[in-house]
Amino acid sequence: MFSYSDSDLYCENVALADLATRVGTPAFVYSAQSILENYRAYDEAFQDIPHNVCYAVKANSSLAVLGLLARAGAGFDIVSGGELYRVLEAGADPAKVVFSGVGKTPDEVEYALASGIHRFNCESEAELLLVDAMAARRGVRPGFAVRVNPDVDANTHPYISTGLSEHKFGIAISEAPGVYERARKLVNLCADGVSCHIGSQILELSPILEAVDKVLALAASLGNAGFPIRHLDLGGGLGVAYHSGQKAPEIRAFIASLHDRLRASRLCVTVEPGRSIVGPAGILLTRVLYRKKNGPKEFVVVDAAMNDLIRPSLYRAHHEIIPVRQRPLPSITADVVGPVCESGDFLARDRTVANVMPGDYLAVCTAGAYGFVLSSNYNSRPRAPEVLVEGGAYRVIRRRETFEDLVRGETL
Ligand SMILES: *Cc1c(COP(=O)(O)O)cnc(C)c1O
Repeated sequence: MFSYSDSDLYCENVALADLATRVGTPAFVYSAQSILENYRAYDEAFQDIPHNVCYAVKANSSLAVLGLLARAGAGFDIVSGGELYRVLEAGADPAKVVFSGVGKTPDEVEYALASGIHRFNCESEAELLLVDAMAARRGVRPGFAVRVNPDVDANTHPYISTGLSEHKFGIAISEAPGVYERARKLVNLCADGVSCHIGSQILELSPILEAVDKVLALAASLGNAGFPIRHLDLGGGLGVAYHSGQKAPEIRAFIASLHDRLRASRLCVTVEPGRSIVGPAGILLTRVLYRKKNGPKEFVVVDAAMNDLIRPSLYRAHHEIIPVRQRPLPSITADVVGPVCESGDFLARDRTVANVMPGDYLAVCTAGAYGFVLSSNYNSRPRAPEVLVEGGAYRVIRRRETFEDLVRGETL
């Protein structure tokens, strides 16, 4: 959805140089078409299997993005009361919301039950007791899945790997049968599912396939033990290509590789993709402020920083950085850095980039997931606006913060 026409970079049919001039920089820009295509790739790949595609809200929780997906029929995977509030504001059907997370508070459980959400993915026995007690008080009987930890290595960055027994997530798969047995006495809960989520930015399918086989086996044995297991939640985690040469698993091929065993299970399958739906659908637009040299090292100083996009600093993540207008000049090797007063503030290091000049715009690619949501006001920098492109039109879906926004809620 981001491509050059002549020498100008477009998002769908909108020239990004024009958009940058009108909206200012830094700014996040998302392609509605790309988001919807990625969502539909999941939805359509399931074909004849009962399923729920529950978009993982934490990847990009902007109301307009949630609204777009809600209208397309998506469900939502939430991890906090705030995310529940957002999806309800966006018009989501609470019956398609699944609540995940290792530290749900009593207030959040209460809010979720009052909203009539679909199911809980529970991560400890204490949480099961809490949800059961609160469901009793409301006179409801929600379904739950224990999030099991299948002890497989997702081969991804340690901070976003979640499926090994050393991680805080889930309940060891070997202990899960005992947890379900003890949950039989929790009469306000219905043990009707099994769930897992082994990590994020997963580029090889084998760990996911291994996890799926383990949870399918668990679901079958729980079924034999008399539990009314009807739901299988496989989590999210499919990776995207951050390097231009990189190959990420294709959504349709990924689901196709699971299709037969999922269909044979006769379970209703939930997936919780976040990054693979919104990641490639967004960029961060930034303007070059200065070029400078310190000894042999060259720097391109831009107006976006680690407070806007923390992934390079936090995970050493690579994001391609491309010019919004191509010029026939030889490229340079430089660090692309922001204005924040910290050496950890960089978008790229020792990178071959276009020979840009102050005033030129750059696009930091694949910034639609874990971009804006992880942004902060560090250095008292107002947060960037978000723009949604639909065909030849665009709209600001979140305005740029002002200095007044920075001190809102504070007292002298
Ligand atoms: C983060 C998360 C997801 C989404 O992961 P992606 O890598 O963005 O697809 C899904 N489920 C749970 C429980 C999560 O914590």
